[in-house]
Amino acid sequence: MKELEKKELDFLLNSIRDIKDFPKQGIVFKDITTLLNNKEAFGLLMNHLHDRYKDSKIDFVAGIESRGFIFGSALATKLNVGFVPIRKKGKLPFTTIGAKYSLEYGVDEIEIHTDAFRDIEHANVLLIDDLIATGGTANAAVNLIKTAKANCVDACFLIELRFLEGVKELLKHTSVYSVLKI
Ligand code: AMP
Repeated sequence: MKELEKKELDFLLNSIRDIKDFPKQGIVFKDITTLLNNKEAFGLLMNHLHDRYKDSKIDFVAGIESRGFIFGSALATKLNVGFVPIRKKGKLPFTTIGAKYSLEYGVDEIEIHTDAFRDIEHANVLLIDDLIATGGTANAAVNLIKTAKANCVDACFLIELRFLEGVKELLKHTSVYSVLKI
């Protein structure tokens, strides 16, 4: 497995756009659409993730709504495995399992289909999202994967916002890989 070189990490970082005060005052939103529409950047990222996970015996990639769907489904086809969406409450049509998590104000919930892992015993699942901030969403997603009787082999993020320390709690439940630590 080949680690990314500094110039490649800088290239990926520079392909992501900061939007100040979106969606509300005080938040710096990491806009990854400028990475996606840059074929060199998107290609570099997906080739890197494929190289990293191709020998990991992964059965499914699970992506968190909604930007985790983009990276997750692209990676799943490269790894030749199935893709599983983890969605906000009320969006999945079949029977679901839910997990709640805390937000700054109140709680939110994500769901997965009960048959998401197609009855494969202890399926090995790679969880993916674009960004980890407080880690609330990712922790809830790992819980869901466990409740669905699968095994989260790694949680992968394009961006980790280190100052929020979201990875700290997550590391108690799974290994974590962040391409860019900011
Ligand atoms: P958290 O549960 O706090 O780790 O938040 C992670 C989720 O919120 C991910 O699905 C991200 O896409 C989104 N998110 C949180 N903060 C940001 C940010 N600064 N820029 C872009 N997306 C964010």
